[in-house]
Amino acid sequence: MLTDTHCHLYLDQFAGDIGDVIQHATNAGVEKMLVPGMDLETSYEAVRLAEKHDRIFAAVGYHPTEMQKFSMNDFDEICKLAEHPKVVAIGEIGLDYYWVKETERQTAQRQNLLPHLELASRVNKPVILHLREENDAEFGEATNDLFDILEQWQKKLTLLKSKPGVFHSFNGNFDSATRAMSMNFFIGITGPVTYKKNDSQRELVGKLPLDHILIETDSPFQTPVPHRGKRNEPANVTLITDKIAEVHRTTRETVARATAANANRLFGWETQP
Ligand SMILES: [Zn+2]
Repeated sequence: MLTDTHCHLYLDQFAGDIGDVIQHATNAGVEKMLVPGMDLETSYEAVRLAEKHDRIFAAVGYHPTEMQKFSMNDFDEICKLAEHPKVVAIGEIGLDYYWVKETERQTAQRQNLLPHLELASRVNKPVILHLREENDAEFGEATNDLFDILEQWQKKLTLLKSKPGVFHSFNGNFDSATRAMSMNFFIGITGPVTYKKNDSQRELVGKLPLDHILIETDSPFQTPVPHRGKRNEPANVTLITDKIAEVHRTTRETVARATAANANRLFGWETQP
């Protein structure tokens, strides 16, 4: 009952063997995969994959580093896609001050995030958040800005308030994690939790309650140990699950069951057609 709640299966890295990749995932016990878009084109591709494969679900939206492509016309198309029964979230959306350092483009990220959040509340689907600080710091302006925006958004939420979304591939400190969880967000854990030098991430994960964790590969990126350097794929959720189990001194089954239940609760995909 494993789930991979974040994988970019439409990217070129999977063009030659997507069927095999899905079969590997199935063999590894991955029941469901969530493919988030990064712009209009990849949002379409995510939906197309979800239409083709039972186990795949989609999210739609503009990634913060892709905002130069954003227009209200194209966003109308995102809004239409968001109504699709296999679209279970809006994302990935958020703020990235690592790849985007120009003040104007950071402002555009914040501005264009707002209609995505409004869309999420309108269609009652949670958000998948991307957050990256300048210089990969654990905390800084991007975190401050994102929490400001989310707090304003949460004031107006009704149905989504109890499960507004997930901080994908969480890389912040424990204070930020606590703040996110107090707003009912889930925390997405990816391959870096397996990296040798990443004791701080393991320490953080050890302090997170299992009922707030989602497991994601972020395929084809962030490949866990011992496959670092190779393409990542959803079957590798097993390695992330095992590391979380080790840190929590429990079994793979316990972590898998808890995180699958979290994903069901957030994305409501057990009741999907
Ligand atoms: Zn992603």
